[in-house]
Amino acid sequence: MKAEIIAVGTELLLGQISNTNGQFLARMLADIGIDTYYQTVVGDNPQRLTEVLDLATKRSDLIITIGGLGPTEDDLTKQTVAKYLNTTLVADQKALDHLQDFYTQTKRPLTPNNRIQAYYVKDATVLNNSNGLAVGALLTANKATYVLLPGPPSEFKPMVLNELRPRLVAMTHHDEVLVSRVLRFYGIGESLLATKLNDLIVNQTNPTLATYAKDYEVTLRLTAKAKDNETADQLLDDLEQRVQALVGAHFYGYGDENNLEKVVVNQLIAKKLHVSAAESLTGGLFQSMIAEVPGASSVFDGGFVTYALDQKAKMLNIDAAQLHKDGVVSEATAAAMALHSRAQTNAEIGLGFTGVAGPDELEGQPAGTVYIGLAYKDEPVVVKLWHFPRKRNDIRTNAAMAGFFMLFK
Ligand code: ATP
Ligand code: MG
Repeated sequence: MKAEIIAVGTELLLGQISNTNGQFLARMLADIGIDTYYQTVVGDNPQRLTEVLDLATKRSDLIITIGGLGPTEDDLTKQTVAKYLNTTLVADQKALDHLQDFYTQTKRPLTPNNRIQAYYVKDATVLNNSNGLAVGALLTANKATYVLLPGPPSEFKPMVLNELRPRLVAMTHHDEVLVSRVLRFYGIGESLLATKLNDLIVNQTNPTLATYAKDYEVTLRLTAKAKDNETADQLLDDLEQRVQALVGAHFYGYGDENNLEKVVVNQLIAKKLHVSAAESLTGGLFQSMIAEVPGASSVFDGGFVTYALDQKAKMLNIDAAQLHKDGVVSEATAAAMALHSRAQTNAEIGLGFTGVAGPDELEGQPAGTVYIGLAYKDEPVVVKLWHFPRKRNDIRTNAAMAGFFMLFK
């Protein structure tokens, strides 16, 4: 099966945003054994999109468009595809109801141009949008398969993984199953991970493995082909065991959606532990990331943002003279912050974040130097020293993530 990807959008064409969706999709296709032969970027222009569709129809079997399913005037992909295929658009009742609920709930009027998001090309299979309003579509015509996907990555990615991938697998793998397992890692770069796994990656045939870099973490997707699920799982277990032996120290969880914060908060929920934090350079980022996870309230009662030394002393009830003596960027201060934030809130766990976000150095220490203290019940406080690369806000995010990784068990 020869695949072709058409990314639609003038902002892509003019380089205002990058075609990350195209990359994501091509990787998914490769992962399930479908070769991508062409990728095109075209502006929001029906005539030029029609030309691209026509060319694609002549040379490819699977034609996937990205973007232009929304309600605005420049969103013309499905209208253009319908016209090209001599067919019409019809409404998906479920999506219409969903749309109506959304507008009622947010107290906004549902205008006709918004209704268009619930329309799809006649006779197509609807691809549900779990994160937005515009539905996707999959249909066969002219001996080719056409797929229409939305542009926003938060809608696009789940649709690709949950709606499109299984259908393409069913279309291309008749007597076999294709099972994937995603492993997640923190604190190791994509290139180092790939280097450590080099022997496994180079020699892969079945199962295959591919690395994906995300912000501040790396995921590894293992995919096995087999006659049934049980055999595929066995193949994945064997490969995972070899992966874990090489890079297991950085492993923290499974799945496409389970980021480090989610995994750790869910572990704390399961263990009925409460966490508190005193944050200096991260300015509350760690606590904000906890609050992003559903269910956070059962593990997080509160904490502190203590940016200046005075406030570390005052809010956390730490001796100011001692803080001055130890210095802000020090093991002792991180330990004191962790201990006192735990004591002030009666949480089982207290964390203390202190360090240099930069760009300038502090107390003679370079930007990226971060101490994180962890106080757990009555056990001795553990303090870890980190050296993060890059810029101010990367350092702050890295520090918050490192706090989660220290909590991971
Ligand atoms: P919306 O309902 O938001 O209008 P849409 O399906 O019409 O969605 P577009 O209008 O084409 O999609 O794009 C919406 C946004 O999605 C873009 O502004 C851009 O941020 C992002 N986007 C679109 N295409 C891509 C792509 N190929 N790669 C990465 N991001 C993209
Ligand atoms: Mg749009």
